[in-house]
Amino acid sequence: MSGPGRVAYALDDVGYRIGAAQILTGVSLEVAYGRVLALVGPNGAGKSSLLGILTGDARATSGSVTLDGRALSQHRSRELSRRRSVLLQANQVSFAYTAYEVVEMGRAPWIGADIADDGRIIDEALRRADVAHLASRVFSSLSGGERARVSLARVLAQDTPIVMLDEPTAALDLKHQEDVLRIARELASRGRAIVVVLHDLSLAAAYADEVAILHGGRLQAFGPPVDVLTEARIEHVYETPVRVIADPDTGRPIVLPRRER
Ligand code: ADP
Ligand code: MG
Repeated sequence: MSGPGRVAYALDDVGYRIGAAQILTGVSLEVAYGRVLALVGPNGAGKSSLLGILTGDARATSGSVTLDGRALSQHRSRELSRRRSVLLQANQVSFAYTAYEVVEMGRAPWIGADIADDGRIIDEALRRADVAHLASRVFSSLSGGERARVSLARVLAQDTPIVMLDEPTAALDLKHQEDVLRIARELASRGRAIVVVLHDLSLAAAYADEVAILHGGRLQAFGPPVDVLTEARIEHVYETPVRVIADPDTGRPIVLPRRER
């Protein structure tokens, strides 16, 4: 169905315009099963917009987007909700749902699919996101980091072959940041396609198979972290001096701001 290395999404020369604003220009890339793709770039670069194109919530105004070899626009919404899940940047839930109920919502696309072990899938999602102890708490009473993890559990419960996460680590402490990326890697090792928007370039480098770096709505580079995250490119894109060193344990890039002594 979705073997590792198979292409999930193929984007060819994708443009996205809202009114007079050109948000994305000439974006071509592939998202493959079994791999973690980190999407990075400065604020306003177009990362969330690109995620919106992938989810189908926004429609490319030029170029082509295919999912599993078929135009994305040809997939029905029920079918899409069983193919891909997304953790949006703002984890808003308007009513007084408990954390358990929020995670349970992740199962909604599977209603009628004759899956007997919904309860087990929900429990497993709660456990992996380290929020089982919060299950009966009201979502709105949770801290930002706890909400982020419950929202991650909801996405895990949706149990889709493609998982997209928009800044999932923004509100998290060190351990939970690592946990989220470790979960992403585990999902990939089981053949899922993962797209994760990250601000922390070292975190992206440590966990991603590929990094896509966006700048002003254009893809500046796409490839293995060590090729993409060079000092020159990061300084150009982020307009700030950096130092890139190799992690002594893994050899992967670590990106540090360059500071005066
Ligand atoms: P990122 O997630 O990388 O911070 P976004 O994809 O959210 O960036 O936004 C990319 C650019 O598109 C920003 O300049 C943003 O202001 C602009 N933008 C997003 N939504 C709209 C909209 N509805 N109308 C006009 N501009 C928008
Ligand atoms: Mg964003």
